[in-house]
Amino acid sequence: MPTPIGNLSDISQRAINILSSVDVIATENIYHSRKLFSYFKIKTRTISFNDHNEKKKSQVLIARLLKGQSIALVSDAGTPLISDPGYYLVNQAHNTGIKIVPLPGPCAVITALSASGLPSNQFTFGGFLPEKKKARKDKLLEIVKVKHTCIFYESPHRIIESLKSMLDIFGPERQVVLARELTKIFETIQSMPLGKLVKWVEKDIYQQRGEIVLLIHGYNMEDSNINELPEEVTRALTILVNELSFKKAISVVSKIYNCKKNVLYKWGLINLITKY
Ligand code: SAM
Repeated sequence: MPTPIGNLSDISQRAINILSSVDVIATENIYHSRKLFSYFKIKTRTISFNDHNEKKKSQVLIARLLKGQSIALVSDAGTPLISDPGYYLVNQAHNTGIKIVPLPGPCAVITALSASGLPSNQFTFGGFLPEKKKARKDKLLEIVKVKHTCIFYESPHRIIESLKSMLDIFGPERQVVLARELTKIFETIQSMPLGKLVKWVEKDIYQQRGEIVLLIHGYNMEDSNINELPEEVTRALTILVNELSFKKAISVVSKIYNCKKNVLYKWGLINLITKY
């Protein structure tokens, strides 16, 4: 069941009642959950359940459930299974015919989206971006032409690296929202074109700390004037992209022909992306 992502008052009364009345609570990290449990005077027994022991512990929990016990699952914060352990257990419970009772509640991706100002009628949640640069860029390339909002969780240690990878792939004009420390004292929701956002985060060390969600505006071909690019320019870009990185090729062509980088980015994404 969901637990707060920062502000303890965000827990629901139903969640407190259930946590207090189940036979056992499966917790990702008891040291982490202890603060919450002691604040709400929850004295229920706990059992450890995390990424390292999920498969083994799922068997134990399923056996208990089959005996008629009730079990609540919590992660460190937010909704279990959303970039957190629990999928295997819930899947096995379904396969065994055990009833799952879902509780709505805090979840960073939804909290961030609801305040981002980006289109929210459709969105993709990509979990955490890969740590390795090549894998990260490949992941971003997969979504570069996705027309709806795309959302990622990010660790503060990698925020600059990830924003730079995004800049390489999406170009400086794409609108991106950084949602940081949601529901906490230093809550920040900053929406900017990517080029400006990277500089803003680089300049301010505090924006590189805490818990972060990144939201990327969907691809919007209508606002580009890619069809107006002279053939000479697109020919130069097509040749250079085979010799240089996508970003460098765009930078060179933009300097030679004095045309906007974002327009070149868009043309390149549509016409050259398979070669990149
Ligand atoms: N299950 C959780 C949920 O429902 O949001 C997410 C768990 S995941 C291991 C942790 C990541 O969620 C963080 O690295 C951050 O990207 C995001 N996150 C969690 N709490 C947050 C907060 N208060 N503000 C912004 N992002 C948060």
